[in-house]
Amino acid sequence: MADSNSNRTMLSVTGFSCGGWDSVASTRHEIRSPVTGEIIAEVNAAGPDIAAMVDYARCTGGPRLREMTFHDRARLLKALAIHINANKDCLYALNPLTGATRRDGWYDIDGGIGTVFSYASKGRREMPDDRIYLDGGVELLSRNGNFLGQHVATPLTGVALQVNAFNFPVWGMLEKLAPALLAGVPCIVRPATVTSYLAAECFRLIIDSRILPEGAVQFTVGDPSGIFDPLDTQDIVCFTGSASTASAIRSQPAIVSGRIRLTVEQDSLNATVLGPDVVPESADFTAFIDETIREITTKAGQKCTAIRRILVPERQLPDVVEAITFSLSRVSVGDPGLSGVDMGPLVSARQLADVRNSAARIAGETELVSGSLEQITALGVEPGQGAFFSPLLFRCADADNAHTVHSVEAFGPVSVVMPYRDIAHASDIANRGGGSLVVSVFTSDAEAARRFTLSSAPWHGRIYFNNAGCMAEATGHGSPMPQMLHGGPGRAGGGEELGGIRSVLHFMQRSAVQGSPQLLTAITNQWVDGAAEKLRGRHPFRRFFDELAVGDSITTGKRQITLTDIEHFAEFTGDRFYAHMDDAAARRNPFFPGRVAHGYLLLSFAAGLFVDPEEGPVLANTGLSDLTFEKPVVAGESIHVKLTVKRKTPRTPEYGEIRWNVTILNQDGERVAGYELRTMNSMQPVGGSVADG
Ligand code: NAP
Repeated sequence: MADSNSNRTMLSVTGFSCGGWDSVASTRHEIRSPVTGEIIAEVNAAGPDIAAMVDYARCTGGPRLREMTFHDRARLLKALAIHINANKDCLYALNPLTGATRRDGWYDIDGGIGTVFSYASKGRREMPDDRIYLDGGVELLSRNGNFLGQHVATPLTGVALQVNAFNFPVWGMLEKLAPALLAGVPCIVRPATVTSYLAAECFRLIIDSRILPEGAVQFTVGDPSGIFDPLDTQDIVCFTGSASTASAIRSQPAIVSGRIRLTVEQDSLNATVLGPDVVPESADFTAFIDETIREITTKAGQKCTAIRRILVPERQLPDVVEAITFSLSRVSVGDPGLSGVDMGPLVSARQLADVRNSAARIAGETELVSGSLEQITALGVEPGQGAFFSPLLFRCADADNAHTVHSVEAFGPVSVVMPYRDIAHASDIANRGGGSLVVSVFTSDAEAARRFTLSSAPWHGRIYFNNAGCMAEATGHGSPMPQMLHGGPGRAGGGEELGGIRSVLHFMQRSAVQGSPQLLTAITNQWVDGAAEKLRGRHPFRRFFDELAVGDSITTGKRQITLTDIEHFAEFTGDRFYAHMDDAAARRNPFFPGRVAHGYLLLSFAAGLFVDPEEGPVLANTGLSDLTFEKPVVAGESIHVKLTVKRKTPRTPEYGEIRWNVTILNQDGERVAGYELRTMNSMQPVGGSVADG
């Protein structure tokens, strides 16, 4: 067992600006180990030449990123995630220096890498292989369809300045970098000083990999004064940290001017609620206690999503207090580099003083039921050494008349348990935090869950329900998932991060584009109704992915629908719905003139009309969407189909996805049904087309 600081050379942290590592400055800021108090790192203290960095990002990184498609950038992210993952041992080696245990480090390091993987995958699956993102569908703006609208998003042409908190030096950096780079916006990372050496090590991996284009990322440490001054309209600031720093940033002249986008994630008094239906010794009760303990102790409570307030039905309060007190008494606090240690120290002596001070304020209106505010002796360190703090549980008898428990964030292992009367009361108490990142509810009571959601959702960025039905797979109260929104209203800062592609759009400008179908098709690379269709000789199913063009189209021959067809289809499929079988009943229905053909029959006949049967470039039909049945078809009428290439998306070097616009028309040329069909088409083999036949 080696302690976390032995035989370590001093870490030196500098910025990376304008394509190179900064030289070591004469003024250095010392960082001390939270375990031993020894100096472990030195950071350049002078402020950066931020104007030069911003200029470099705008003129070098931005253009290089923007000339790529979303898929190109997603591939870079995937390569980056693979590279960091393969080299993460160096990050885990530094992790305990921050006071974090191996498990804490997993959230930070593997959590950060996982987030990059997730954006790499979403970028390929949910964004086009293009440089313009389509936001929503086409809007019809004129009677004849000759003037349309489409919302599009294009990357900002400035820089994303990302100011991060100390607690997740890797995840905090990567979860901001991934969506910004996917959008096509270069980034300047400003880590929190106290854990900057770990962020810098991860950043070094990014630079050494040479995966990103020149100027895509820069790194700055040191005095932050003036860092917002060179920013302008196309730039964005993404801040994570305390409410007080957020407020200082909001008052910066460059921000006050309103020209610059600002996303803020700040502190949050998250709550957890034991549902009114949950009884002691049930699986839900155990899960509630386990998650609460995990949230109090992970990262020594230095987590933006940690549970600060524990809301419990009045009658369950004694059992909950007993269970939490028992579990906390078994938490071993000590050197995070030692095996068997559950919780390390706070990040610094300053953080220890802050947390003790905040806990003392909370103590003023509560009763301490577990832990001690005094210095504790920790496993593997000398008595009195390090920024160790015992996990604390306070009990607040009257949540309605308490103030500090709903307003003071002790950013450490500190939590307050309080009773509630009913679910409406629990919701009201949870909302008293003034806006939070997450509130969790342990319940199987569906009605209570819905009522809680209606009254609390406006106050919280995420509501996490857990119970025996999902607990084996639940992702955790405190884990922001890349797919789900992270952020919260009011006190939590009002910002939003993650949430899948939503966060990519924060780095882009949404614009409404209006014009003719022809121009919209050319601008968006997506065929819209009314634009020219190319009726080229060969059946589109005989063309390889790369041979097809947006707008390629065929119109099939006609097929008459007979009563025998309808009856045969009904017998064959078992779908004997009265509208297809009983003329009198169908006439009584306001939608039908009498017996009509099944919609699914029309779909099946449509496929029979447009499918080219021989083996060829079409590999598979992968689904259809947006199906509408618009006009009934009766026996004796005929249908034909128009099939048009709407959009092309490469998926692998071997094949790509074609989205087809399919319109089924009757003998009078009226639309009877429409949908979007998706097929996978193979790429042209080297040496040319073999499908021509
Ligand atoms: P902090 O003290 O507010 O610092 C945050 C960042 O701002 C650091 O990089 C800091 O640099 C920088 N900074 C400080 N003063 C600045 C200024 N005048 N201009 C520009 N940047 C400035 O917060 P922290 O102690 O690192 O983190 C703890 C807080 O973050 C807690 O309140 C926690 O709730 C919150 N947090 C929120 C989230 C979330 O997603 N909502 C996530 C994590 C943490 P220095 O390190 O050099 O001071």
